[in-house]
Amino acid sequence: MNDLLIKKTTASFQELFGSTPSKIVLSPGRINIIGEHIDYNDGYVLPAAIDKIICFAFEKNNTNTSKIVALDLDEEFEIDVTAKVQLTDTVWTNYIRGVIHQLTSNGFELEGVNCVFSSNIPVGSGLSSSAALECGFLFGMNELFNLNIKPIDIALMGQKAEHWVGINCGIMDQFSSVMGKENKVVKIDCRTLEYEYHDANFNDYALILLDSNVKHSLMTSAYNERRQQCEEGIAIVKSHFPEISSFRDCEEKHVLELKDKMTEDVFKRCYFVVKEIKRVSLACEALDAGEIEKVGQLMFETHEGLSKEYEVSCDELDFLVDSVKNNPDVVGARVMGGGFGGCTINLIKKGTETAIKSNLSKAYFEKFGIELKIYDVKIGNGTSLHTI
Ligand code: ADP
Ligand code: MG
Repeated sequence: MNDLLIKKTTASFQELFGSTPSKIVLSPGRINIIGEHIDYNDGYVLPAAIDKIICFAFEKNNTNTSKIVALDLDEEFEIDVTAKVQLTDTVWTNYIRGVIHQLTSNGFELEGVNCVFSSNIPVGSGLSSSAALECGFLFGMNELFNLNIKPIDIALMGQKAEHWVGINCGIMDQFSSVMGKENKVVKIDCRTLEYEYHDANFNDYALILLDSNVKHSLMTSAYNERRQQCEEGIAIVKSHFPEISSFRDCEEKHVLELKDKMTEDVFKRCYFVVKEIKRVSLACEALDAGEIEKVGQLMFETHEGLSKEYEVSCDELDFLVDSVKNNPDVVGARVMGGGFGGCTINLIKKGTETAIKSNLSKAYFEKFGIELKIYDVKIGNGTSLHTI
């Protein structure tokens, strides 16, 4: 599938610019196995890069102006890379502008490039097509101009580019897009940015994403409210247990002991966070031991927590998880990402996927009148150069 994408992107580049690209960069989307809503609560996350990518074809054009073509949108823009960079109304161009802004404000001197890119990452479904876009473009600039930027700094600068666009994201998306490795998940410590790889050998189980195809507008306000509730909660914990400095040091018993000192909502949020931080470590242990059913069980628990305690699910996502919960061929499922829409991530016994997919699509359409989108994903490499 990616071979076709690479061919298509290269052929379009040749057609548009009349030359062969000098660099081809592949930049993946990502999934997160477990560890949701705890990146901003000093927790761990367990993402991986996937085999869905944006393919970029580049060449230097020996001018000060870059010409960038988004093949999927059939749109293009030009930018003087020596001038001050500004946000525009064309959102996709802002991610590229953000990267150029990051580079120039860090003192890197750029020249113009020609670039064509095309993608098979679903856009806006929570697979981080935006991180793939920023990091892939930045990776290409790094290669073309020998900027010597380390991979981890590509991730950090990509994150800053996204902040510049106006999205106050954590580091997980860019980190996993850049640092991912085939057949590995990466456990990231969101407090220190330390990371370790674990084998992602799902044995007899396939990773399948079910895209609810909904996006409820609650998302942003709820996100801000959750952050504020967690801050309130940890302040209460700290004032009673001075030895605790963050949720990381907290155990369930600490939160339980303070239940009547918190509002019900604040209690539920904190209780979820403490348990979710623990679940990520348990999931790593289970993966290391090859106990995929255990990983799956933890995913179900996460979903329950996100739905009932953190309250960031919605009817459509709960339906998708509830529908597979008692199916012995589905060992784990949960909402992935911020919530209120997007995808569920599922571990489904190989060989049984076809029937499960068609039953679910039918049931989902009957219940909500919405088409279910389904993506098979495999764990792939982080952003890399493709040798032509
Ligand atoms: P996600 O990162 O979950 O896919 P976002 O809303 O964060 O969703 O980012 C999606 C945005 O990234 C799109 O609205 C668009 O601006 C940009 N983008 C992603 N993929 C492409 C693409 N193939 N072509 C042009 N723009 C893209
Ligand atoms: Mg994004």
